[in-house]
Amino acid sequence: MSTFTEPAPTATALLLLGKGSDAASEKGVDCPGELPAPSDPDLVARARAAKEALGDRLFILGHHYQRDEVIQFADVTGDSFKLAQQAAARPEAEFIVFCGVHFMAESADILTTDDQKVILPDMAAGCSMADMAAAVQVEDCWEALTEAGVADVTVPMTYMNSTAAIKAFVGKRDGVVCTSSNAERALNWAFERGEKVLFLPDQHLGRNTAVRDLGLSLEDCVVYNPHKPNGGLTKQQLRDAKMILWRGHCSVHGRFTLDSVRDVRERVPGVNVLVHPECSHDVVSAADYVGSTEYIIKALDAAEPGSAWAIGTELNLVRRLANRHADKQVTFLDKTVCYCSTMNRIDLPHLVWALEELVAGRVPNQITVDAETARHASFALDRMLALP
Ligand code: SF4
Repeated sequence: MSTFTEPAPTATALLLLGKGSDAASEKGVDCPGELPAPSDPDLVARARAAKEALGDRLFILGHHYQRDEVIQFADVTGDSFKLAQQAAARPEAEFIVFCGVHFMAESADILTTDDQKVILPDMAAGCSMADMAAAVQVEDCWEALTEAGVADVTVPMTYMNSTAAIKAFVGKRDGVVCTSSNAERALNWAFERGEKVLFLPDQHLGRNTAVRDLGLSLEDCVVYNPHKPNGGLTKQQLRDAKMILWRGHCSVHGRFTLDSVRDVRERVPGVNVLVHPECSHDVVSAADYVGSTEYIIKALDAAEPGSAWAIGTELNLVRRLANRHADKQVTFLDKTVCYCSTMNRIDLPHLVWALEELVAGRVPNQITVDAETARHASFALDRMLALP
């Protein structure tokens, strides 16, 4: 039996989507059609029946941060990159239902064939981090780099957690996509080709990788703020920097603080603190282990029975890990609840609605990336796939 202690609820348990960013970039506001009531006792049976009716024509992908009620229907679970790869490896599936967020469904659409249809059960499932970098802002940033005379020696690099438009921007300028699993290799690749890197959109993953893994100093990094003229930087600062970090962050991982780490070490003697690299540099520096979602899952699988772990990532995943590893003491790093609000928009009623629409011969909420954007984004994704 798991000893997992639920963190305390907070008024902001479900963080706001895209707050302070480009409101127009938030993907949709509502779900068209008749949603089943969340109280419908037949939801599980309806989802099963629809899944069975669609058979091999359907492939359901479930991101690790999804709710249990949804993840039970996933044919495969994984992080954003693994899920996009899995979608591409299933050309026989006509419908890819992506239980995740918008940028992930876009990547799946880019990597799958033209005949496959990628469906997001709720169009409002965006990502606040991806929304922090709009294409027009990134074009302005490139202009600032050009005026500072450094664009030619800068390699743009974007985290998987970005829109297709940003991936296309990077692809057009000979840059690369990375994930939290391969950020170090991608950054080494970029520094072999240029003197500087423009890292989008997560400043924390960029800083943590540059400083922890490549041995750069914090002074080598500057933060480009898209809401200030010239990013709030002088030309000289742009010339001196090695890492130009976009001022974006994950609202979920940004909740963990140095105090969370100190507090859990006091509460749980001998605890191993394991955090995601989207956490701030302070938190990452104070942790014992740092790694991607897949790394966190493997670390728990390999941990000794009886060992104690405080995990700094999304709560749905941490709770599932605690339940799966009842022989280990698994604690959520923060004392208060911390879900990804946009991931949580995909619930069982939305999944049932999407599946039943497919059974009825209608394709709901299809995510499509235009051919030109997809072509350029593919260049950046392919470079990532070819990394040594
Ligand atoms: S956990 Fe963070 S990066 Fe991931 S989808 Fe939610 S807001 Fe975006």
